[in-house]
Amino acid sequence: MQTCRLASSRQRGRDCCPLHHRDPFDRSLVAQAQALGIPIVSADAVLDRYDIKRIWENLTPPRRNRDHSLQKTRHPLLIPGVSSAYIDQAGSGRVLLMDTNSGERVTYQEQGKRIVPTQSKTLLLLKPRGFCAGVVRAIDIVRIALEAFGPPIYVRKEIVHNRFVVEELQGKGAIFVDSVDEVPNGERVIYSAHGVSPEVRDASQQRGLRVIDATCPLVTKVHVEAVKFAKEGYSLILIGHRDHDEVIGTLGEAPLVTQVVGNPAEVAALTVPDPNRVAYLTQTTLSLDETRDIIEALRERFPNIKGPAAQDICYATENRQVAVKHVASEADLLLVVGSDNSSNSKRLVEVARSLGTSAHLIDSYRNIEPNWLEGVKTIALTAGASAPECLVEEVVKFLAGKGFGNVQEVEVMPENVRFGLPPEIVEAIASAPASAGVE
Ligand code: SF4
Repeated sequence: MQTCRLASSRQRGRDCCPLHHRDPFDRSLVAQAQALGIPIVSADAVLDRYDIKRIWENLTPPRRNRDHSLQKTRHPLLIPGVSSAYIDQAGSGRVLLMDTNSGERVTYQEQGKRIVPTQSKTLLLLKPRGFCAGVVRAIDIVRIALEAFGPPIYVRKEIVHNRFVVEELQGKGAIFVDSVDEVPNGERVIYSAHGVSPEVRDASQQRGLRVIDATCPLVTKVHVEAVKFAKEGYSLILIGHRDHDEVIGTLGEAPLVTQVVGNPAEVAALTVPDPNRVAYLTQTTLSLDETRDIIEALRERFPNIKGPAAQDICYATENRQVAVKHVASEADLLLVVGSDNSSNSKRLVEVARSLGTSAHLIDSYRNIEPNWLEGVKTIALTAGASAPECLVEEVVKFLAGKGFGNVQEVEVMPENVRFGLPPEIVEAIASAPASAGVE
């Protein structure tokens, strides 16, 4: 490839490429760089900032006006992070830039919707990712209960579906049990974010257990809808996975009138006493597309079927799936940090695969198999709603060591949801002495 050098500096320690606004080559370079989305700043606009000013002074023997201010018009444009710029004379229209950190020449080109250096491998870090508001709340409840009341604190089922989180809380004194029958009479027990059935609540009451409910408010919403439809005499179709804790809990609200379906084919086998009095609800962590197909099949079978006032699939599940769809065509591989019993994490893998992108669920960077990375130039990385950020950071570090040093965060939408704590925890915080450190 032939290149024509357009501008350079003789000074060391520079980190901007100066371009002269009157130079026709520079102007051509700027036009191409702007078309590619490469940031170009006007030196005039940043001259007041000390760091840029110092760079500016290093770029050229500073010319000063009579009043000792710097001349602002000699090199009015800068490309941050780049020391030299070239234009490809072979006609590809590409702009070649010199990376100031590595000293390597980097070719920038369009890749999907973004500009990436062609020689380096890219990691797209999706946002939103990881902990949702329900998971943050559930973990906070266990931590605060341990601090305020002291161990032992029993937790029914995994508080959230992530091994790392569960092991960390175990280390602090939480005791995880499968059933409230395992909790000694009168002790404190926390229900997980996935919720429980009335049967479990009754069993706890009979044992005199002191209950703290960490059920996600969005799961509670589905329970309330189930009770309402059942009271109104509807047959209830619950779309979800039969063996998931959340579905078991919701089913328990109205077991005599509820049937679970997991795919469109199962809709044909449903039998109900009155096809005009049927309602459906869904698990909160399903695939949006698959659920749409099941709902369509239900509407065909029961044209008067009623649904929830607002979709039951929660905001966090939806946002993470939308983010995956957003980058699926750009990525050669999607990695999802999450445990294999995490429904929303598994759905993220399925969403990517349904769009033809190779995808894997990993508990940590240790699960990444070398052959997954062969021939891969762009990886997209996300995390399920119960996966902590520290595990994502480890993956980023690991992949940087494998050449994926060009990390670009792709924020598809903002996410600012927070849920309040249950009254038992609010009271514990209020009554803790100021020095006790309960937050
Ligand atoms: Fe709640 Fe959704 Fe998080 Fe589940 S994934 S805990 S429903 S916010």
